[in-house]
Formats: sequence, structure tokens, C-alpha cells
Amino acid sequence: MIRKFFGKLFGKNTQPKIIAFKTHRISPARISPAAQKVCETLQEHGFAAYVVGGAVRDLLLGREPKDFDVATGARPEQVRGIFRRSRIIGRRFRLVHVMIGAETIEVSTFRGPSGAADEGVDSAQSSTDEHGRILRDNVFGTVEEDARRRDLTINAMFYDPVRQEVLDYHDGVADIKARRLRMIGDPAQRYREDPIRMVRVVRFAAVCNFEIEPRARKPIRTLANLLQNVPKERVFDEIMKLLLSGNAAEGVRRLRKEGLHHGMLPLLDVILEQPLGERFVMLALANTDKRINEGKTVSPGFLFASLLWHEVLAAWKQAQARGMHLMPALFDAMDQVLQVQSEKLAIPRRFGGDMKEIWALQARFANRTGRRPFQLLEHLKFRAAFDFLLLRCESGELDSEIGEWWEKFSHTDEAARTTMLLKDTASGPTKRRRRRRSRKPGAPEAAESDES
Ligand code: ATP
Ligand code: MG
Repeated sequence: MIRKFFGKLFGKNTQPKIIAFKTHRISPARISPAAQKVCETLQEHGFAAYVVGGAVRDLLLGREPKDFDVATGARPEQVRGIFRRSRIIGRRFRLVHVMIGAETIEVSTFRGPSGAADEGVDSAQSSTDEHGRILRDNVFGTVEEDARRRDLTINAMFYDPVRQEVLDYHDGVADIKARRLRMIGDPAQRYREDPIRMVRVVRFAAVCNFEIEPRARKPIRTLANLLQNVPKERVFDEIMKLLLSGNAAEGVRRLRKEGLHHGMLPLLDVILEQPLGERFVMLALANTDKRINEGKTVSPGFLFASLLWHEVLAAWKQAQARGMHLMPALFDAMDQVLQVQSEKLAIPRRFGGDMKEIWALQARFANRTGRRPFQLLEHLKFRAAFDFLLLRCESGELDSEIGEWWEKFSHTDEAARTTMLLKDTASGPTKRRRRRRSRKPGAPEAAESDES
């Protein structure tokens, strides 16, 4: 209570804790030389300049930062004027990209309070929507104001590489030590201003294995539906960060626990409620995490194809039950599932193509007679589709025999492959010859003879 009172009284003039090297122990060798140079140069020109946000958090956690952002008191035009190799980007939220050597450093000017949510701002010129979401965020401010508009205390620290000091306005260092996620300000209000913050909190909880403080955790369930008002592209970017964080399995588990997954992957809810679907999704996520932690690449198309596979499977079966043939039924199911997703989560078109190919190829694994398996092996997406098939086996959806067969088939020589082929029982020789002539090379197969 007393703290709250003083907080209100001195809210606008909080002094930061200044953390010296002997406490923070951030070795200068871990700072990107380009970020160091940008801060030094700006300071030589008389402007405050710090490394900010995620980089400071990661340095304190002993992780390697993904990128180094700089915040400064200089205006975008001033920054542009100081660095020859730089350009101003963004219309609404203007930033400067400064190129040093092969690196690009994003330099932003300190932002001040924006929106009716902040005291002293005339709500008549409101820059928020009817739910309190901030639409404009382009008012410049002081370093202290800049700290206050950030989301979590651990993301609101400023590192001065010249003085080797961390400026900590909201006790972020203490929260890092306590492994605690604390929202700056009133959590519910901060989520209303920008609902994406709820997803970020859950992401950091999973990635850093931190506890979300109860007052930041509690409102999430109630406010989760506000995510519907956020532009789909932003939600997509945020969920991609979560899925590619190396902790996706935990991230999705937490999203679900907090009731946040509805707005993002609407079908995920349904999927996770079917035992087979859940097992498949979790295996796919664990697989992705493993690849990322081994420094391998992952294909977003593959990942989304996995997340939605059991929906496709269900729709595929329904379409067949309605009397559609195997392949048209599959294509119908794929379109239906992608359509529902696109209403909620904007999966970019380029991934949609990959997803469809991986799904469509699943039907072709069933055919292990004649030339077909050889043709499938030549397919550009064979590897991805085969990995997908293995996941289906591992999750218990398919008998492991089919996965083992394809594993062996793909690794052995031509002669051995021929001996592996199954007997063609369903279609006679006449029918097979006619079919082979009429199909263009690489075109999707007609109905298979031995579907799984
Ligand atoms: P990552 O390591 O995943 O990039 P990050 O914290 O650096 O995590 P960014 O999206 O790069 O995330 O954002 C940089 C900084 O900007 C954050 O550390 C935080 O201070 C601030 N920030 C980002 N998104 C928001 C938001 N929605 N609301 C308030 N502050 C935000
Ligand atoms: Mg970042």
C-alpha cells in the first residue's frame, strides 16, 4: 500500500538502480561490436544511447542475444545524420537501421506515454480502440518513460556499454535472479493496450522457465479473447517466435494452460483434446525443439502441417464418408482446414503450399507396388513427407511397419528396392498399363489401391 502510494507520487521521476560491472558481470566481449560502436558514436555526439530490451535480458541470463537493439535520445533524423550507412524505416513507428560492417543495428528513439491510458493525455484525441488497445505509439520521451512503456521488468533494462552500467528502473535484475515475470504497471491494463503482451509473457515463461507473477497471470484467461482484435500478422509473428524458440512443446502447453491458444490456432484446441492428435502435435513440437537446439533449420510449413494434421485427417474421413474419392476428398479436407485457419491466424501463402504438398504426399505412401514408390522417392518434398510419415507412425496413428518399409526402401539400392515391392493385388495388368499412360509425370496419383 505504502509502496503503491510512493510509486504514484514519484511515478514520473523514478530513479533507476545503477548496476555496476562487479554485480552484472556482462563481459564487453559479449556485446556486438556494431552495437558498441553505435552507442559510442551517439554518446560522442552528446546523446544518451543504450543497448536495450531482449539483449540485456539475455546477457544477464548468460544467453547469447539474438540481436542487439539500441535506444537513444537522438531523433531518427539525427541518427540518420550521424551514420552514413543508415536509413529510416517504418512510417508509424520510425526507427533507424544503422549498418556497421555486416551487422545492422536497429536504433529507436526513446518513446513516451501514448494513448488515453496514460495520465495527462487528453482522451479526446484518444489513440486507443474501444477495448483500450493502443493504435498510435509514436510520441518521443525520456529514457525513464521508455522503460515504463515496455512490457516486462526483465525487458526494460538499459545497458551502457561505455560506462559498463545497467540502468534498471523496474527491478528487472532482481526479477531475473528470482526467475520471475513481472509486468510493468497494471497487468490487465497493459494487456488491454496490447493483447500480444499476454502471448509474450507465456512465451518467456516457457523459454526462460520463469514463473509468471500471480497478478500478471490472473487476468490472462479473462482477456484472452482480446487477441481477436490484434492484426493477424502480429499474432502470427509472435506464435512463430514461440514455435521456433527451442521450447515450443512447453510453450504450447503453457498457452493452453493459460487459455490463450484459442485465438491463435483455433483448431489446436480440438486437436489437443483427441489423445492421438495431442500425441502427434507434442511429438512434432518436441522434434522441432530438438532440431533447433541442435542448430538445424526447421520448416514452418512442416510445423504447421503437423499442428493441423489431425484436423485434415478428420475432414478427409468425413469427405470420404460423403462418397468422395480418396484424393479429391483429401484436397477438399486440406482446403477446408486451411480456410478455417486463415480466418484466425494468417498463415502466409508460401507455407500453405508446403503444407498441402506434405499432406497430399501422405496418401501416396500407401502405394507400394509398381513404379509409384520409385516416383515418390524422386519427389522434391519426399524427405519432408517421409519425416511426416515417421511422426504418424511414432504417434501410433499408423503401423510402424509402413515407416520401416519406406526407411529401408529409401536407403537401399535399385535392385533391392525392386524385391521389396508388394504384390499388386487390387489392380490387374490392363488397368495399370492404361493408368500409367494417361498420367503426366509428377502429377498427383489417382485413387490408391491399398490405402492405410
Ligand atoms: P526476443 O529475444 O524474442 O527478440 P525481445 O524481448 O527482444 O525478445 P522484441 O520483439 O525483439 O522482443 O522486442 C524488443 C523489446 O521491445 C522488448 O524487450 C520489450 O522491451 C519491448 N517490447 C516488445 N514488444 C512489446 C510489447 N508488445 N509491449 C511492450 N513492450 C514491448
Ligand atoms: Mg529482440
